[in-house]
Amino acid sequence: MATSVTPETEVNPWASQEARFDIAARKLNLDDGVWKVLRMPTREITLHIPVQMDDGRIEVFTGYRVQHSVARGPGKGGIRYAPDVTLDEVRALASWMTWKCAVVNIPFGGAKGGIIVDPKLLSLSELERMTRRYTAELVEFIGPERDVPAPDVNTNEQVMAWIMDTYSMHVRHTETAVVTGKPLDLGGSRGRREATGRGCMLVCDQAIRRLGLERERTRVIVQGFGNVGSNSAHLLYRAGYKVIGVDEYDGGIYNAKGLDVPALMEYRLANGTLQGFPGGEQRPKQQLLTEDCEILLPAATENQITSHNAARIRAKIVCEGANGPTTAAADEILQEQGIFIIPDILANAGGVTVSYFEWVQDRQGYFWKESEVNEQLQHVMETSFHDVVAYAERHNVNNRIAAYMLAIDRVAFSIKLRGIYA
Ligand code: GLU
Repeated sequence: MATSVTPETEVNPWASQEARFDIAARKLNLDDGVWKVLRMPTREITLHIPVQMDDGRIEVFTGYRVQHSVARGPGKGGIRYAPDVTLDEVRALASWMTWKCAVVNIPFGGAKGGIIVDPKLLSLSELERMTRRYTAELVEFIGPERDVPAPDVNTNEQVMAWIMDTYSMHVRHTETAVVTGKPLDLGGSRGRREATGRGCMLVCDQAIRRLGLERERTRVIVQGFGNVGSNSAHLLYRAGYKVIGVDEYDGGIYNAKGLDVPALMEYRLANGTLQGFPGGEQRPKQQLLTEDCEILLPAATENQITSHNAARIRAKIVCEGANGPTTAAADEILQEQGIFIIPDILANAGGVTVSYFEWVQDRQGYFWKESEVNEQLQHVMETSFHDVVAYAERHNVNNRIAAYMLAIDRVAFSIKLRGIYA
């Protein structure tokens, strides 16, 4: 496979998704028709969103919402705001949501949204107007029973509150279950903010146990210090792991004896960068990816582990907190090195799992204690980890292909049971 990959296709997330999907589908002997159904998204919406800027000018932003599959339930998946969003990326992210929800066995399909925008260049009110117009354009396509957005790169609880409000104004009643990752006071769930990081910690615990490692002797390097990276680092640190490095967009911070993660979080909040943190040495951007450690936890964006650096990865475990951090071309290289991969569609599924709990709570109007959320999350993550690893052993495939096979099999079974409506 690696030989047919060109530099352009290697970093196209949709090509990476298709490559793994095809391998898994072939191994499953997937029915030809179901293969065709699942290979392309069900619905792809492109929007050109006019926004009145603060100075009176009108700007038009291009946005997408892709619903890959709704076979197992409403579409589910985040919305990202970034200047390099593409339709192929949103397609890949939507299909990864289908597989992710199926791996953890929650009753959702997969969807994703994105707007091509650098949110740092917008004022808060411009951001609000853009979010509301995007939501209004999607009113008939989203909803608690249709498609339920959530936060992703550069979107947060405030953005979710605007989406909830805009949708509610259109349907003429407050509908909190249209979106997850909301503020606690607007139907959000306790534990949702940390959920993706907590899920990463829970699967790392399972992985080190399999490899016979102890938390105290397990050195971790995290890439990215946004919601997923910072919460993973913090929870791993609190659990006793030694977080020795954090890599970010403008460089990394390294301390072989272990970083003081709470102090690093405070520093990042106050300074907007990790650079200059007194408790560690500065490192050039991306250098820490190939540093010696037990766990590498990429929690930024796609295409960080590629055919160019995969052979130099020295970690024993790669826990994919981000979506698509490893290209398909890098898969084989990592496998040859015997690295234990916890693939994205399993490792970062804690976020959507607690989103599911949030949706359930909103629909019941009954809210759980944080301990209850965390306990249920732990159960889901541990069960799913064991399902994937057992599947890999039984079918003699790597963890990533096992996760895809398990997911595709579950979705294909739903399609078979439902049949194709004529
Ligand atoms: N954006 C997150 C993800 O990629 C969460 C999605 C959700 O909660 O729906 O998994």
